[in-house]
Order: sequence, then C-alpha cells, then structure tokens
Amino acid sequence: IEEDLRQAQKMEALGQLTGGIAHDFRNLLTVISGNLEMIEDKLPQGRLRDILQEAQEVTADGAKLTGQLLAFGRRQPLNPQFDDLGQLVTGFSDLLRRTLGENIKLSTVIAGSGLGVLVDSSQLQNAILNIALNARDAMPKGGSLTMEISRVHLDDNCAKTYPEVRSGNFVLISMSDTGLGMTDEVKKHAIEPFFTTKQAGSGTGLGLSMVYGFVKQSGGHLQLYSEVGRGTTVRIYLPAMAASQQPECIQEKPAVAEPLP
Ligand code: ADP
Repeated sequence: IEEDLRQAQKMEALGQLTGGIAHDFRNLLTVISGNLEMIEDKLPQGRLRDILQEAQEVTADGAKLTGQLLAFGRRQPLNPQFDDLGQLVTGFSDLLRRTLGENIKLSTVIAGSGLGVLVDSSQLQNAILNIALNARDAMPKGGSLTMEISRVHLDDNCAKTYPEVRSGNFVLISMSDTGLGMTDEVKKHAIEPFFTTKQAGSGTGLGLSMVYGFVKQSGGHLQLYSEVGRGTTVRIYLPAMAASQQPECIQEKPAVAEPLP
C-alpha cells in the first residue's frame, strides 16, 4: 500500500510539473503559429514559403504533444455528456477492428444495463484507441483483444486497500490482450509521461499517461495488470450514472401549469 501511495504522489507531482510546462508551452506555440501564419499570407509561392510551411507543421506537432501532456496533467478541459458505454463502444468497434488489422481478433462483451456515465466521449474514444494501439504493438504475431463493459460496485474495503480508489458504483471498461506483457519494472513506469520501450519514432510514451490523466479527471480509476508472455489488462473505472441522475439544464421558460377551470 505504501508503494501505491508513493506512486500516486509521484504521479500527482509529475502531473503538476508537466501540466504547468505544457500549459505555458502551448501558449508560446500559439503565438509562434499565429506569427508564422501572418508571414505566410504575405509571401509569394516559392522556397521561403515552403520553409515556412514546414515550420508550421512542426509547430502543429509540438501543439499536439503539449495537448497530450496537458491531458496527463489534467489541464485539458473536458466536455462531459451523458453516454451509455455499451452503445458508445458498440458504435466504435468497427473503427477499432479496422485499426487492429486482420491478425487481431476483437471481441466485445457488454454485460447488462446501467452503463451510463457522464464523460467526454471523444476523449474516452481516444483513450480506448490508445490502449488498443498498445495492445496491437504487443501482439506482432496476432492475438486477441477482449473488451468488456460492466457495472461494478467498489466497496469501502476496496477503497481502503487502494489509496487512490473511492468507493461507489462504476462502469468498468476492461481491455485484455494476449500480447507480450510487461515486466514489473516496465509496469511500474508505464504510466509516466515519456516512458516508452518502443523504438524512437514509433512511441512517444504519452499514450498511457494521457489515459491516466483523462480517467482521473473524469473521477475514475485506472489499473494495469500484466504478465510477461501472457498479456496485459487495462481497466478503466468511470463513475456510473443512472439515466434518472442525468443532469438537466435549468429550463429557460419553466412550463406554467394551466389554471384549474
Ligand atoms: P508508447 O505506446 O508511446 O510507448 P505508452 O504510454 O502508451 O507509450 O506506453 C508506455 C509503455 O508501456 C510501452 O512502451 C510499453 O512498454 C508498455 N505497454 C503499454 N501497453 C502495453 C501492452 N498492452 N502490452 C505490453 N506493454 C505495454
């Protein structure tokens, strides 16, 4: 437990540091990009303009990176909406299947009902995609990825065992691959920003850190289980919300009851 707590504190500190730097950096990049655009408009077609366009592309890459860091540092604004995760994942599975390719079999198991959550669905899809891409990279010779969505209750005992966990009802998204798995050492660092075991150019080390930041910011929990040679399971717990709890905006013109005859 002490180790878990230390890990959580380290993540918090890293999040603040990277989030702060990323935030300032993004502002600088916005200024650079705005200035480049202004110069570009004034330049005729030609070599100089090409160079400038290249600079703009690199600036855009930088902005993308800082966006990922902001997600880890929980500085990324969320746009949460009520969504049924069963439906969301079903609607997303064709794209996932195409991304994974023919060698990887994707199965989705959607258990029961009550799978509503208040979540930024585009950021959730991004998180699922990141986990799926890691699974694909861990299964170069093919394999299977199983996605299970279910509703779970985490009780106080569980919250005591895991210092970061809050008890309550959650919708669990569990993604298990039959890939290479992680050593304990890799698992320990996997969530940290810029930690990667992939070759330069094929991994930024920001995938899982982004997923972690997003899940925390959404009031959920992230857990990793992995065994070398057997595979990896990534579990995302998001606070469950029944349809009746769905927040409603204050009506501009409340309906006025008809006066009784
Ligand atoms: P990246 O994918 O760019 O390396 P991530 O933060 O997504 O960055 O992952 C960090 C590291 O965690 C990976 O380089 C890899 O070593 C390990 N990892 C993540 N997911 C898996 C997985 N499903 N199976 C095995 N190793 C994984």
